[in-house]
Amino acid sequence: MAVKNDVMTALTAVADPAGGGTVVETGRAAGVVVKDDGTVGLVLAVDGLDKTTAERLQATVEAAVKRVPGVSVARIILTADRAATPTAAPKASTVPGIRKLVAVASGKGGVGKSTVAANLAFALARAGQTVGLLDADIYGPSVPTLLGIEGRARVENDKLQPEVRHGIKALSMGMMTDPNKAIVWRGPMASSALVQMVEQCDWGALDVLVIDLPPGTGDVQLTLAQKLKPDGALIVSTPQDLALIDARRAVAMFGEVNVRVLGVVENMAGYCCPNCGHVSDPFGHGGAEKEAEAMGVPFLGRIPLQMAVRTASETAQPVSGEPAAIFDEIARGVIVTVGL
Ligand code: ADP
Repeated sequence: MAVKNDVMTALTAVADPAGGGTVVETGRAAGVVVKDDGTVGLVLAVDGLDKTTAERLQATVEAAVKRVPGVSVARIILTADRAATPTAAPKASTVPGIRKLVAVASGKGGVGKSTVAANLAFALARAGQTVGLLDADIYGPSVPTLLGIEGRARVENDKLQPEVRHGIKALSMGMMTDPNKAIVWRGPMASSALVQMVEQCDWGALDVLVIDLPPGTGDVQLTLAQKLKPDGALIVSTPQDLALIDARRAVAMFGEVNVRVLGVVENMAGYCCPNCGHVSDPFGHGGAEKEAEAMGVPFLGRIPLQMAVRTASETAQPVSGEPAAIFDEIARGVIVTVGL
């Protein structure tokens, strides 16, 4: 706590280059979090500043924070648009017939993004919404496995037909291509193929389309976010630092394209041994929650690392029990925040 106060004092010595007082007074610097190891994280909003001024301000803030006794590392997250924070106003979907688009993203692969996307879709359907799920993961589409869909997508009246499973309509990149053939997608081709999948699919009237984005924060993800303009994005991360660094990039990426970050979901936290009931934390615990706080975005929930989650996804079933209740809670939050 003492270190946090010292960091705040150090920040009050940094003037906002756009005027109006210090970076604390104008709200440019916010969400200060101090970890036990002396790592300090904070969010710096650089709206209205040109690139050089923003970089200079970042360097000044970093130097000021690092000078504080007890601080080992300063992590400054730049956000380019304060409107991209959870306080941004909801907007109407850009695809006719679909009321809201919600993207599920992760900074890196293998963190359970597709599992979260599918189970969020199931939970939204349980809550009475008409739901679609688009698997836009060009690198490793997993929705066909998660939903037990085999073969290619059918085309009727020039429209791709989604498959209906457990009450949701699903379409996957894996239903477009031969699963045994490697396809190298160039960035622009991948994003236009995916936008076409959204627009040329016979979704019918949907309350919400959940989009399982490819992992990472490259051009494909950025273009997709720009073109589809989702009403909000959920970021999935495991609790360990490496995944969190990438999650931070994902939050920054959505900030760049003015997509509201609905919050962070921590997956694979707390392993409960099915034999003795002992709970351990192979990937750490609570990292995503702290990080969400540091980035000034909501923390939406923690999904435990459970054999049952894996077996449910491998047998194309929605998760049940405690994880299902967590997804129901996350879905309730999404319904309220995007205005479903
Ligand atoms: P991503 O989409 O991020 O690559 P997936 O959703 O495909 O990740 O998940 C990767 C693997 O981890 C899958 O085998 C999935 O069943 C498993 N998995 C995901 N979340 C959990 C969890 N909470 N507990 C156990 N296994 C999980």
